[in-house]
Amino acid sequence: MPTYEYECQSCHERLEAVQSFSDAPLNVCPACGGALRKVYSAVGIVFKGGGFYKTDARSSSTATVPASDTGAKSTPATPAAPATPPPSTSSTTSD
Ligand SMILES: [Zn+2]
Repeated sequence: MPTYEYECQSCHERLEAVQSFSDAPLNVCPACGGALRKVYSAVGIVFKGGGFYKTDARSSSTATVPASDTGAKSTPATPAAPATPPPSTSSTTSD
């Protein structure tokens, strides 16, 4: 059974509550009736797995496939550019 630590936002009273995961979190301070905030520290609750930690940036998943080395499509990305440049109408001082 994990132990949760709460801190009251009003009177800063700290309390620990032993709850199961299915229990609803406490949100009312029993001392003053203020709002409780769950504190994740020094209690020994470690959330492992479940994609909780995203800081471990190691590219080892099967989600990323290298873009090259597939050899399927070798079409060069050629933009549709006009083959002939527009006629330059340089009319400068006729006469
Ligand atoms: Zn309180």
